[in-house]
Amino acid sequence: MLELTDSHAHIDDAGFDGDRDAMFERAGRAGIRHIVVPAIDKASWTRIADLCNKRPQALPAYGLHPIFLKQHRREHLNDLRTYLESNHAVAVGEIGLDFFLPELDPAAQREYFVQQLHIARDFDLPVIVHARRAMDEVTSTMKRIGGLRGVVHSFSGSLQQAEKLWELGFHLGIGGPVTYERAQRLRHVVATMPMERLLLETDAPDQPGACHRGERNEPANLVEVLEVIAGLRGVDASVVAHATTDNARGLFRF
Ligand SMILES: [Zn+2]
Repeated sequence: MLELTDSHAHIDDAGFDGDRDAMFERAGRAGIRHIVVPAIDKASWTRIADLCNKRPQALPAYGLHPIFLKQHRREHLNDLRTYLESNHAVAVGEIGLDFFLPELDPAAQREYFVQQLHIARDFDLPVIVHARRAMDEVTSTMKRIGGLRGVVHSFSGSLQQAEKLWELGFHLGIGGPVTYERAQRLRHVVATMPMERLLLETDAPDQPGACHRGERNEPANLVEVLEVIAGLRGVDASVVAHATTDNARGLFRF
């Protein structure tokens, strides 16, 4: 039986309210033993804490996601410190920069991102990073602050950008996009990258793989990602399953 880790799934999302128990059941049957659940805003923290208290396979991360900038207030940064003092977390996340959506003010995003990188370093926690049209700035910011570890989730950059992240000791989170044959650049990175830098993710309920196009995504679908990556690398799926779960254990310390 495979032992898989979904390193990124928003299973607290209201889209799972109708069948969350069944979703966990399907994940368990597919061999998903651990699921990292990143936060999006302050309001999501208690929801995620409650979920992870009830489900030991769900591992919480707390943070302020760049896409939800309108919901954030400066005082939420201090609230995050307070929350991390009294609640177990495996990471600070989801944090990052999104220069794709024009309504998100870059200066405000930068402030939340930098402050949360400092919080992660102060608490000795890894970061779960969202980078869209912002890969170079995300990398240079993390390099400047230093003393960080973590994962760039749903990595979609070039091989050169990936190499800069590996130099910093960062992991790449790979999910549904790699299952599409047209994703040539990403597939080349995933086929040749160091195995010890690889994490699997679904990003549920978003980013379904080619076999589930247009559907709500969920952790059980991680198996499709696993099989595509194993095929690209020419190894057995169990090799990728074992290595990526080891990587997740090392990074998130569970
Ligand atoms: Zn996410």
